Amino acid sequence: MDKQKAENQIKALVELLNQYGYEYYVLDQPSVPDAEYDELLRELRQLEKEFPELITDDSPTQRVGGKPLDAFKKVQHNVPMLSLSNAFNEQDLRDFAKRASGGTEEAVTFVCELKIDGLAISLTYENGKFVRGATRGDGNTGEDITTNLKTIRSIPLSIKERGTLEIRGEAFMPHKSFLALNEAREEQEEEPFANPRNAAAGSLRQLDPKIAAKRNLDIFLYGVGEWEGSAISSHGERLEKLKELGFKTNPEWKKCSTIEEVIEYVTYWTKERPNLSYEIDGIVVKVDNLEQQEELGYTARSPRWAIAYKFPAEEAITKLRDIELSIGRTGVVTPTAILDPVKIAGSTVQRATLHNEDLIREQDIRIGDTLVIKKAGDIIPKVVRTLTEKRTGEEKEFQMPTDCPACGSELVRLEEEVALRCINPNCPAQLMEGLIHYVSRNAMNIDGLGEKVVMQLFQEKLIHTMADLYRLEREELLRLERMGEKSVTNLLESIEASKENSLERLLFGLGIRFIGAKAAKTLAMEFKTMDALQQATFDDLIAVDEIGDKMADSIVQYFSEDKVTELLDDLRSLNLNMEYNGPRKSEADNDSIFAGKTVVLTGKMEEFTRNEAKELIESMGGAVTGSVSKKTDILIAGIDAGSKYDKAQKLGIDIWNEQQLKTVVEE
Ligand code: NAD
Repeated sequence: MDKQKAENQIKALVELLNQYGYEYYVLDQPSVPDAEYDELLRELRQLEKEFPELITDDSPTQRVGGKPLDAFKKVQHNVPMLSLSNAFNEQDLRDFAKRASGGTEEAVTFVCELKIDGLAISLTYENGKFVRGATRGDGNTGEDITTNLKTIRSIPLSIKERGTLEIRGEAFMPHKSFLALNEAREEQEEEPFANPRNAAAGSLRQLDPKIAAKRNLDIFLYGVGEWEGSAISSHGERLEKLKELGFKTNPEWKKCSTIEEVIEYVTYWTKERPNLSYEIDGIVVKVDNLEQQEELGYTARSPRWAIAYKFPAEEAITKLRDIELSIGRTGVVTPTAILDPVKIAGSTVQRATLHNEDLIREQDIRIGDTLVIKKAGDIIPKVVRTLTEKRTGEEKEFQMPTDCPACGSELVRLEEEVALRCINPNCPAQLMEGLIHYVSRNAMNIDGLGEKVVMQLFQEKLIHTMADLYRLEREELLRLERMGEKSVTNLLESIEASKENSLERLLFGLGIRFIGAKAAKTLAMEFKTMDALQQATFDDLIAVDEIGDKMADSIVQYFSEDKVTELLDDLRSLNLNMEYNGPRKSEADNDSIFAGKTVVLTGKMEEFTRNEAKELIESMGGAVTGSVSKKTDILIAGIDAGSKYDKAQKLGIDIWNEQQLKTVVEE
């Protein structure tokens, strides 16, 4: 390539990558998948290698991360927080090992760690107290997010180490929290986060720490910036020492004495990755010996003693067979891609969401097209792009119908919405989705009434409205497929028991737009009865903390409909409880971190006896049990914690030290 052409290309790549970098690091809203960014970066690097004189200062190959936001106080990192250079295949790893051992005759030992897909954080302790937490920012200057970091329970607020200690790790959002957050956002009709990393970054850069506190973030510590008086000679020792001090370290790290062992570790985790309770995007390989690390040194952007192996993009190519429409409980019509089955990241994918008609047009998706599919955040499959070059001419453009495929009424596009909606309140598809929601765990919580059974009841025309559930008869249920005596008895009992539910469950179950479980609870506590709520005006409603205009409007509109009044009267005549039952014991202190949680205690405690700790937790609404299982929410580990600790780490359970318990109790 001639120099002029290379210069133009480099300029264009730098500009594009900096734009993507800004969206990713500063706005926490990437517009392209990471694999695409990495591919462009590789292209740029290749060109810069051929023409080193064309490297510019603003090239992303010369810089770390993004600019810190002005909203936060700036923090200067005394020891820069660098990025890592990347390996994309086995050969890259072998080359790294060669470079690492070159120059010395000594054999090099490596430590392999999971590359947690979150954001790099620095924690500073002075004389045993947590004094400052910061983001990486551009490597030299980060943002002071101490208050937000204090909401992460696994960060100890004090430690038994004097002097100054600045340690580093990765803050992240576990899958469970990520899914719950996106579900809640969708309920509020807010844009869901693209992946757990962006969700974590967005949460930690909230100006209101209350929001960060609700996001259930976690952290693994893996490195040190400054540590006065530490006499440690290897990275492995350092990880042990951090754990001893009460920091949460990732238990899966491994010492490897050959590159073959490193590759084995990489292969193992490439397969096991979907079984973790948090997201990883690769493996970090570090030279274990700290002296050897010093000898190898750093480039401007990354240490020479470490490398990040990136998992291959979780994308696959397949054909679009058809586009199906599904109708949600609020009437939104969503097109879904029906695909030729294809394997991505260990599971078979046959459907992908297409969101709405505009997106189908924008991506120019036609039935019969060859598509690139990706698991977004490795969970929900999405279409990345259409391979138009593979078209044969047989592909058919998709026409969004004008009428609802379930009830035939005309679909409408409400103002400022991209989605099409069916607004017929009697649309059977909406009613069925509404019922699935009504019986679900956070709503009326009717055991034995899963999605499949509701669909059956609907298809058999045994129910049409929520009230019909309470009129079901034993004989008709027994006629259904896979319904024996016992399951029918249980089902009828749980339907009957649900009549006693407190008002908030019913309110949430009704599926009023914008009213999630939390808002339902607030409304129930405030208005106490359904009657009072039915009569509440817009002004009454917005006077309540946490109820905004959008919610208030939606509630007034909902209760003004005749059909709703009819339904509520019907439910009343069937003896459904329409009142707030008051705080239950386990919710006595609903704001307490232990409310409704299952806690296990292990190891020796210094400040509390076992019984004291147990009583304290129980008084705050928690339940203390003896052994760690999937149901455990928190393990509180004292000194010399043993197998329970290991098991809790394996299961991805929140682990606290005694100090954290003390902090919560004091608060
Ligand atoms: P990186 O994520 O490739 O690697 C460095 C980081 O790894 C560290 O800063 C640290 O935060 C993290 N890490 C996780 N576990 C670790 C461990 N055990 N030990 C050490 N470090 C560990 O580098 P980066 O500079 O943070 O970001 C580059 C990434 O961002 C790439 O994956 C790139 O695809 C993505 N990106 C995407 C876009 C986009 O538009 N999609 C834009 C910019 C960057």
